[in-house]
Amino acid sequence: MTQTAPAAEAAADAPPAIELRGISKSFGPVKANKDISLNIRRGTIHGIIGENGAGKSTLMSILYGFYKADRGEILIGGKPVDIPDSQAAIRAGIGMVFQHFKLVENFSVLENVVLGAEQGGLLRPSLARARTLLTQLAAEYELNVDPDAKIENLGVGMQQRVEILKALYRQADILILDEPTGVLTPAEADHLFRILRGLRDEGKTIILITHKLREIMEVTDTVSVMRRGEMTGTVKTSETSPQDLAERMVGREVLLRVDKAPATPGETVLDVKDLRVVDDKGVERLRGVSLNVRAGEILGIAGVAGNGQSEILDVLGGTCTATGTVLMNGEEIDLSGKHSDGRSRRRRGIAHVPEDRQRLGLIMDFHAWENTGFGYHDDPAYGSGILMNNAALREDTAGKMERFDVRPPNPALAAKNFSGGNQQKIVLAREIERNPALLLVGQPTRGVDIGAIEFIHQRIVELRDAGKAIILVSVELEEILALSDRIAVIFDGRIMGERLPEETDERELGLLMAGIDHAPGDKPDWQVVEEQLKSKRGEVN
Ligand code: ADP
Ligand code: MG
Repeated sequence: MTQTAPAAEAAADAPPAIELRGISKSFGPVKANKDISLNIRRGTIHGIIGENGAGKSTLMSILYGFYKADRGEILIGGKPVDIPDSQAAIRAGIGMVFQHFKLVENFSVLENVVLGAEQGGLLRPSLARARTLLTQLAAEYELNVDPDAKIENLGVGMQQRVEILKALYRQADILILDEPTGVLTPAEADHLFRILRGLRDEGKTIILITHKLREIMEVTDTVSVMRRGEMTGTVKTSETSPQDLAERMVGREVLLRVDKAPATPGETVLDVKDLRVVDDKGVERLRGVSLNVRAGEILGIAGVAGNGQSEILDVLGGTCTATGTVLMNGEEIDLSGKHSDGRSRRRRGIAHVPEDRQRLGLIMDFHAWENTGFGYHDDPAYGSGILMNNAALREDTAGKMERFDVRPPNPALAAKNFSGGNQQKIVLAREIERNPALLLVGQPTRGVDIGAIEFIHQRIVELRDAGKAIILVSVELEEILALSDRIAVIFDGRIMGERLPEETDERELGLLMAGIDHAPGDKPDWQVVEEQLKSKRGEVN
């Protein structure tokens, strides 16, 4: 699958590009890195994979001079080095491509590349030099960017290229990328991987940190797995599998495929016609969306974030006004905002797991038990208003926490003290156990570990099998493909098309997500894809 680079063969006897010996780092009681040793050979793409909090970023921050290790040694090209700060890292030939870019917005690409690398008076000659270098790199590695474009006018994919150019301009030999694809479209991620392969083939050493198994399998030569601060193993990518890696990450067997029988849809539960939303700035966010969901069916809405999928959930969940018609079990729902809010929606059997659970799903300073009652204060089971039966709520929450495997299962803890995955389980427990006729669920597994993803997916499928209708919004195509019985793709406030998961693939969905409804067999033109995405971003953001 992954080809071994020629440079890697040649370097077989050479000292490793990077060697870590016994690196340990604690933050107070948290042991973020425990006695980590690792060799990375020159001219390879080395992946580091692990769940949230496994210690990946800490290890890279030590290598880049942001943190000082409590113990351990770093060798670059066989020589021990001291890396007290990022300047020292750069001198040692290490470049870092940050997850949140550190570019100066109102400067040009060229200025950003040169900035910080040169002393003040030398800026002019170095600008000319940088321009030449940029042209060369663009030709060599598909790193095209307009040197004179302002950063603020570039999309994230382009900004990432500028970060890479910046590192290469500082003559980095070793390039670290920490979760670089989180913000990219599938087409942009493909492009990034082509760039990385090109750099590797020229003899650069790349460290790619990700929690996505697919990316590891696709682009790396070797991979190390981290779990709870420890390095649990390093293997050749060609000799492992996603299943094997997942188990090393979690420390137990996991189900990567969602176990689900074909859907047996019943009556139409929700019928949406010509939904339109205009935001406060007068921008049309939804431009006539029509869709329907039946009982016992999961409708997945795929799309790049910001194309209107959030607005669909907000309108249906009662937190945003719209025009159009929505029939719930044949009865019209008020979209004007006068009699519509979360509570009236809940009375009609609509439950909502919002995308932004920190802002909308939970009150972070409230206890878990208060949060599971949240939005259901008029339920007779809990008493009502100020006479709510708190003891009953607490007990009910304890049961929910147990059934949804929330850790720790303590109803008295404030929401903010749970990890992201466990917060998500609290919201899901609340909404799913209301036994709604329609569940709206946005980004159900964002920031959630593999073990919890498996659990959450199973609960959603169970709800479907109990005959409920579900609308799933996710920017993770894998998740959409795994869970949906039918997939609608949204682009620029319109549904580009509907597909059945067994009759489509990531490639076709990716094109629809970019607004391209190509005839089957057509070859996509990535330049056009990128232009469309750019103009899209310029228009809305
Ligand atoms: P990963 O990148 O694999 O998600 P991190 O290296 O960011 O993991 O974090 C590893 C552990 O160290 C986590 O428990 C995290 O909360 C903790 N941690 C990371 N940075 C800090 C810090 N600056 N202060 C305190 N704890 C930290
Ligand atoms: Mg990290």
